[in-house]
Parts: sequence; C-alpha cells; structure tokens
Amino acid sequence: MALPLAWLADVLRAAGLAVVETSGWEERTASGVQPAAAVGVLEHHTATPASYENPAPSVQLCIDGRSDLKGPLCHAVIGFDGVVHVIAAGRANHAGEAKASGPNPAGDGNTLYVGFEWDYQGVEQGPSPEQYGAAITATAAVLRHLGRPLEAARGHKETSVTGKIDPGHVDMDRFRADLVTKDQEDEMTPEQDAMLRRLEHELLGPRGPEGQIQGWQTAVGPRTIVAMLVDLVNSMAASNPQAAPRGAVQGPDAIKAAFEAMPADQAAPLLAELVRIQQQRQSAPGA
Ligand SMILES: [Zn+2]
Repeated sequence: MALPLAWLADVLRAAGLAVVETSGWEERTASGVQPAAAVGVLEHHTATPASYENPAPSVQLCIDGRSDLKGPLCHAVIGFDGVVHVIAAGRANHAGEAKASGPNPAGDGNTLYVGFEWDYQGVEQGPSPEQYGAAITATAAVLRHLGRPLEAARGHKETSVTGKIDPGHVDMDRFRADLVTKDQEDEMTPEQDAMLRRLEHELLGPRGPEGQIQGWQTAVGPRTIVAMLVDLVNSMAASNPQAAPRGAVQGPDAIKAAFEAMPADQAAPLLAELVRIQQQRQSAPGA
C-alpha cells in the first residue's frame, strides 16, 4: 500500500519545480504513526553550509539520519540552487513535539507536518533567492494539495518546544505574506502572467539587485519609459524642441517622433495622463 505522501513529487513537479526523486523515496518512512492527515508544512534549515557549487550537501544525511535520530529527517531537501530532492513519502523525524502555531494544533509534529529542510547554514548564512523562491512554490503547492490555508505554513522556530531557531534569516510572517502573493499570481493564466511581466519590464527597465525599480540605462542616466515620456511632454509644453534631452538613446527619440506625428487633440489628454502617473509615482513612498 502506498505511503501517505506518495503524491509529493508529482505535486511539486506540477508546480513548476525542478524535482530530484532520491532512490527509494516512495517506500521510505520512519516507524510510527503516518502523517496521513498533515495539517501544515514545517520549514527548517539543515545547519550545513551550502553553495551554488555544492547546493544540497545534506541529502544523504536526511535519508540516513544521525546516530541519535533515525532517518528520514524530512520529506524533501530544498537545495541552495532551488532544486527539490524528495526524500520520503511516509513519516519523517523532523519536527518532534509541536506546540500549537497559527491554525495548527499542538501534538506530534511528525504526524502534523510535511517537513522541508532548506540546505543552508542558518546562522552565518541565509537562504539563497532561488532556495527561498522554491520553498515558496513548494509550500504553496503542498498546502493547496492538502486543502489547508497558507497560514498553516510554519517555521520550526514557531512550533519547537526545545528552542529551535530554524529556519534562520527567514521572517515567517514575511514568508507567509510571500505565499499569499504567490497564490494571487497563480490565479493568472501563464499568458497573462508573462504579458504582465513583459509590460512591467518594458516600462520600468531591469530591476536592481534588491528588486528596486532601476530604469533603463540611457545616455541621460537610468530612466523609466514613463520618466522619458515626461521629459518629452515637458519639452513639448515649453514649445521648445531644443529642450528635449540630447543624446538620449533611440527609444525616447522614436517616442518623440511618434508623438509629433499625432494630432494635438489626441496627444494632449494622453500626455496629461502620463504627467499625472509620473507625479503619482514620484510622490508614492518607496516607489
Ligand atoms: Zn528544524
């Protein structure tokens, strides 16, 4: 008879994740009550330093266990590169005794939770962006499969009765907020999502290292398309073509030519709206 989490690899793969099925995972289980009616997902870190060169050093340890704790030690290891290694379809010794957390009751954590070990050190090292993103996708997919709310995603540090600190460098409230965002994005069709991302990219330019709006590199500095259009509007409003930014890349020049070819009664309301959008952006905090 199939173990209770025999669906795990398929559900993760269907969510778009890169999945490695470790040999024998479908029959792997610790002894004890099976997690048939899991109520949540529990997030951990392995406490082992990882890197893009060695993204999942703890897979074998999570399969075998330690001298003081028999394996499997989780249901899946999420690598530093975002690849998910499926370890076990039955009970895993990852959670110990759990106190009540969010919508989830207190009890045997190994029965209550599907356990993900993120492979990173946790004190001196936080998770990589790829790892964090994969954990978001994997957790959302499992909770949806279980028919459980996103609030049912918990960190070991939230359920531990022995003072565990994992997952380190992860704010679990922020993690759950990111699950909500992911869930909303998933309601769009892939075509809608791709279109939205392309439009955003074209309007705002490439993002900076922390996701901040950076604008396109132009001869007059980093500029968003909206900002460049406002330059154009301002120069046209001054009825002084010489005031247009000189030496700008071809994009703004092409836009300028298009606007100049447009009848004034069509261009005016469009330009006014662009100015309004840009002023709103500049006054919006954190924009
Ligand atoms: Zn843990």
